[in-house]
Amino acid sequence: MKPAVDAFGRVHRSLRISVTDRCNLRCRYCMPAEGVDCMPRDELLTFDEIALAVDVAAEMGIDRVRITGGEPLLRRGLVQLVEMLADNSKVADVAMTTNALLLSRHAEALADAGLNRVNISLDSLDPRRFHEITRYGLLETAWKGVEAATAAGFSPLRINVLLLDGFNDDEIQGWLDLTARCEVDVRFMELMPIGEGVRMNRQGRYVDVARFRDRLVAEKGLVTADVEVGNGPARYWSVPGAPGRIGFITPVSEPYCNLCSRMRLTSIGRLRPCLAFDEEVDLRPALREGDREVVREGFLRALADKPAGHHWSGGQITKSTMSSVGG
Ligand code: SAM
Ligand code: SF4
Repeated sequence: MKPAVDAFGRVHRSLRISVTDRCNLRCRYCMPAEGVDCMPRDELLTFDEIALAVDVAAEMGIDRVRITGGEPLLRRGLVQLVEMLADNSKVADVAMTTNALLLSRHAEALADAGLNRVNISLDSLDPRRFHEITRYGLLETAWKGVEAATAAGFSPLRINVLLLDGFNDDEIQGWLDLTARCEVDVRFMELMPIGEGVRMNRQGRYVDVARFRDRLVAEKGLVTADVEVGNGPARYWSVPGAPGRIGFITPVSEPYCNLCSRMRLTSIGRLRPCLAFDEEVDLRPALREGDREVVREGFLRALADKPAGHHWSGGQITKSTMSSVGG
């Protein structure tokens, strides 16, 4: 089988799958406070349909899967899906991105089911701020999730922090101290002009993470950390001698579209070749029919349609929210 290569020669290895567009938080940059119309449950792909999409993708070399949402742990029976995907010998890696609120209940079962890695999104170490940015979240609950993930053996754990100007950009020392104590990768991410994120950008919350990184590395004497980063877009640094690492994700200030190896499958079966563009290929009819050949053609069409890169720094705006596409 030929590898999944797009018109610009980029080989695709990774599929992000949103298993639900629902969430138990309402992070201000991601979802509105009210009026979120979630998809009726019968519109969602079933586990068998997701497993079929993954099987076809893996056959094409797109063999690394990340489960996301919305909040993936809200999807009932998720452990079973993890097991189905991890049991597929063509699948090289099964990972998950979560806000960790429900992780203390599920971490061990997820590890047993074959989940390889967990990324936790957690924007502040201050309980009041955490509550403010998520509108509902209790830091204590999320932190129990972090501890449960560590105890279940997800190591090194990755924590993603969305950096927001005048909100959490003064908490860096706390994160550096954490990496000095624990084997954890803390990654500072840049706000993208997507869905509600567009509003946050307009409120001036965007931080240029590339400039922030250069300043921080110099000020704190961080050293480059010699680690296998895999396919991911982050490079790592560390406090000298620390077990943990610091990463910076810079999709707007330093786009890495030329390295993109990723596609996204929404909870209702739309295949999205690029996060920044709202164009999608509807795989659900073929998945419902169990028609592998048409599913494969859908992947090839999405690959052929994939743009070279986004124009976010030039003012491009992406309409869909991260919670619906799958972040
Ligand atoms: N609910 C899960 C979570 O929060 O980890 C998974 C889905 S969430 C959409 C995935 C990631 O997208 C989170 O790390 C969140 O911070 C990020 N995100 C949401 N909106 C964003 C935006 N406009 N720009 C950059 N990252 C965003
Ligand atoms: Fe929910 Fe994740 Fe979006 Fe926050 S970032 S509202 S946790 S989907």
